[in-house]
Amino acid sequence: MNENNEKIGKIEKKPALQAVKGMNDILPPDSSAWEWFEGRARELLGRYGYANVRTPIVEPTALFARALGQVTDIVEKEMYSFEDAKNGDRLTLRPENTAGVVRAMNERSFLREGGKRLYYMGPMFRHENPQKGRYRQFHQVGAEALGFAGPDVDAELILMCRALWRELGLVEGRDVRLELNSLGQPDERLAHRQALIAHFEAHQHLLDAEALRRIHSNPLRILDSKNPAMQPVVESAPQLMSFLGEASLAHFKAVCSVLDAVGLSYRVNPRLVRGMDYYNLTVFEWVTDRLGSQGTVCGGGRYDALIEQLGGKPAPAVGWGMGIERLLLLLKELELLPPVQPPAVYAVVPSAGVMGVAMSTMEALRAHGVSVLMHAMGPAGPARIRTQFEKANDSGARYALVFGDDEVARGEVSLKNLRDASVLQRAFPLHQVDQWAADLLQAG
Ligand code: ATP
Ligand code: MG
Repeated sequence: MNENNEKIGKIEKKPALQAVKGMNDILPPDSSAWEWFEGRARELLGRYGYANVRTPIVEPTALFARALGQVTDIVEKEMYSFEDAKNGDRLTLRPENTAGVVRAMNERSFLREGGKRLYYMGPMFRHENPQKGRYRQFHQVGAEALGFAGPDVDAELILMCRALWRELGLVEGRDVRLELNSLGQPDERLAHRQALIAHFEAHQHLLDAEALRRIHSNPLRILDSKNPAMQPVVESAPQLMSFLGEASLAHFKAVCSVLDAVGLSYRVNPRLVRGMDYYNLTVFEWVTDRLGSQGTVCGGGRYDALIEQLGGKPAPAVGWGMGIERLLLLLKELELLPPVQPPAVYAVVPSAGVMGVAMSTMEALRAHGVSVLMHAMGPAGPARIRTQFEKANDSGARYALVFGDDEVARGEVSLKNLRDASVLQRAFPLHQVDQWAADLLQAG
């Protein structure tokens, strides 16, 4: 009864809706750091000749099962997979974008014309435990070089990361460090795998449940265990590096010697393995000590068999993926994020009568590249001038442009420097806006 009465008297208050757990809104002012980062990355990737690709966020589930491997964390437990209720298709929100890029290239036989250097940016989805630096929707920038077999391109991709760190103000070796390994070729891995299985079988009493489960399905992945109690048995395991043949070693040495030549320091980490099964030869990670256990900001490597595995004409490839959230967290911690840019000009519009003139002038300024934020009217018309000036100051704008009735009647508008009270207010002729707009731009 009571409930009914309440419904009659007022509109029923609905419970507030919330975003899906682990999926974040990116709102101002934070979004400006995202745009800044994406802009720098895009520009830099362009300078290395990488072109943008945008593939769908939803892909057939079979793509990831086939590309990443059935017994990987991602495929086993992290994918957002569902059935399309309309037609029964089995679909998945992409957990990574290398598989999608390869699918797209294969579909159009894009590599017929030779190698392709590509990059992407966008959201990825993994059903993980949300924590700092780990989310269910997160974002990556990724670069992929398809159709190139040589160690030179491995090095190029790694160097692109270093160039990006430098542009962002990160110091390599201190803020981010490079770890490098070679996973060799499948037959070499097979021999190593037998040795690993024998090692883990001999030390079963030292393994946790997850490792026990993986002894035969994916023993390599045990090496990646974060369980401190298992470190001794992991550390004493046979190393893949000693199973590599001449060609694999030569490839690895060639990558190292380019990095040496350009003065990039790295640590060879023989235990570095990656979360997807498609990698061979070079694998690497850029890591930081400042983000706890979410310390990998970028990971990549060679995946020479993947193109063929997904039905394409065999071609080698190499690439990396970078977590944007983690990078922004790191940049924030190091106070390397740029301040949000305020508008150059805040337009104070005291009366409705000057609106036409004010609008034309603001439009002209914006057409010249000057950013102008207008004080918008309320339901009862323009706010008091004092209120407008307060807002102008709060906005952080350098100038207030005042369209006072008297000034406009004289064919003028006045410009007040909000950052420096000692600068006298100046009047500018409205019909010459094209001329003083340029001065405003220069003044920044
Ligand atoms: P981790 O070992 O931290 O789970 P990963 O090996 O699963 O990382 P990759 O699949 O190689 O990660 O993805 C490349 C990069 O994307 C990672 O180095 C990281 O910066 C970022 N990343 C991966 N998963 C997440 C996530 N759930 N939330 C935020 N960033 C992520
Ligand atoms: Mg992971």
